[in-house]
Amino acid sequence: MPPDTGPLSAAVAISEFPARRPSKLAVSFEFFPPRTEAMAQTLWSSVERLEPLRPAFMSVTYGAGGSTRQRTHEIVVRIKRETGIEPAAHLTCVAATRSEIDEVARAYWAAGIRHIVALRGDPPPEMGGKYVPHPQGYANAAALVGGLKRIGDFQISVACYPERHPDSPDDDADLDNLRRKVDAGADRCITQFFFEVDDFLRFRDRAAAAGVRVPIVPGIMPVSNFSQVARFASTCGARVPPWLAALFEGLDDDLDTRRMIAATVAGDMCRRLESEGVSAFHFYTLNRADLTYAICHLLGIRPATRPRPEQSHEPR
Ligand SMILES: Cc1cc2nc3c(=O)[nH]c(=O)nc-3n(C[C@H](O)[C@H](O)[C@H](O)COP(=O)(O)OP(=O)(O)OC[C@H]3O[C@@H](n4cnc5c(N)ncnc54)[C@H](O)[C@@H]3O)c2cc1C
Repeated sequence: MPPDTGPLSAAVAISEFPARRPSKLAVSFEFFPPRTEAMAQTLWSSVERLEPLRPAFMSVTYGAGGSTRQRTHEIVVRIKRETGIEPAAHLTCVAATRSEIDEVARAYWAAGIRHIVALRGDPPPEMGGKYVPHPQGYANAAALVGGLKRIGDFQISVACYPERHPDSPDDDADLDNLRRKVDAGADRCITQFFFEVDDFLRFRDRAAAAGVRVPIVPGIMPVSNFSQVARFASTCGARVPPWLAALFEGLDDDLDTRRMIAATVAGDMCRRLESEGVSAFHFYTLNRADLTYAICHLLGIRPATRPRPEQSHEPR
């Protein structure tokens, strides 16, 4: 294990960055279906704020056990209609037969949606405990990828885990599972969030050695609510390093400072990843634009300027 020297040890000097603009990085943004009208307003203003950054895609999660099936569909279709950004619909195997899942996928195909984030999913809290495939369902994400490819030539992203999925007995089994998803037709792997860049780099090397030939895109979670992220991390097996906890110590009632630290930590992680050859980032926005926007700005990503209809094209 490397010494816990903290996130800034291998940072690339920020002054080196302006020379490399305009950025060639690809970014993508993940949202979840809101539960209330107020949350819906936050979501759509975030989509609007992030759209000019011209992400490669915007994805929308699928609630546990298919609970957001309709809402996920509606948001994905609206993103396509209103932004012109490619949307990606998350889809899981939990608590559904193959034919039910195929029907959801066919509806996406019919609506012109061509990108699916194919996942196994987790049992909803009321089903408790361990994932058990539906008897007539897809057993796991690899099987789902195969099923989707039989329906249409979707672009498919899948999940991967720099710190290993909690159900995996060991790293090799985890990578075998990932390779099965890629062999079934996945075009890209998006990682679970992580905080140690070295964990990602080691994982990327192991995946390459195991024959995973598609891009591995780091999933970046900007942390401004530390206790919420610590809770997420404990359920998905991600490690929260002591240096991160220390950075947020004493800031429970100080949102402004937490947000500044969040942007610094995530911006620094991304810059270091970029210096290691990473050229695409997937942001877990939690439906909020500001931190993701700031981090993209730090990375040299600028809003696309589109000529307004009333603008004169005469030289001044
Ligand atoms: C980018 C990203 C987006 C996500 N979006 C959502 C979402 O929208 N909705 C949601 O509910 N969840 C989502 N999740 C969470 C995801 O559903 C969980 O992490 C889930 O526990 C595993 O899903 P998976 O697709 O990685 O599963 P899989 O790749 O199918 O499997 C995960 C693990 O299960 C075990 N396993 C699978 N098949 C076998 C087998 N045949 N034999 C033995 N072991 C096996 C392996 O240990 C494997 O590592 C997302 C995760 C990520 C990283």
